[in-house]
Amino acid sequence: MTRKTVTCIQIKDIAAVEFECGTCHTKVSYPLDKFIHPLTACNVCQPPKQFIVYGSNEFAEWNKFAELLKRFSKNGDNFIFRFELLDEHRKADDRV
Ligand SMILES: [Zn+2]
Repeated sequence: MTRKTVTCIQIKDIAAVEFECGTCHTKVSYPLDKFIHPLTACNVCQPPKQFIVYGSNEFAEWNKFAELLKRFSKNGDNFIFRFELLDEHRKADDRV
């Protein structure tokens, strides 16, 4: 017998979103219902490290993403949408 374990999450399983600075690894987490826009800069790094320019197209895309996450987290039961997570032994290229 072969057993395969697959880990999936649904959008409604997402409790919070987290931003981590790629330099100092400071993390900021927002509960999903409080997530309005992305963190634009790390104020722990000196000088402050900017992630996203406020008002840029990228900033607007993140805002749309936040809006979609919140909207679809309250979606009905007409269908179930899941993200399958990679495990530590499998890379995206190894997908079956
Ligand atoms: Zn930082």
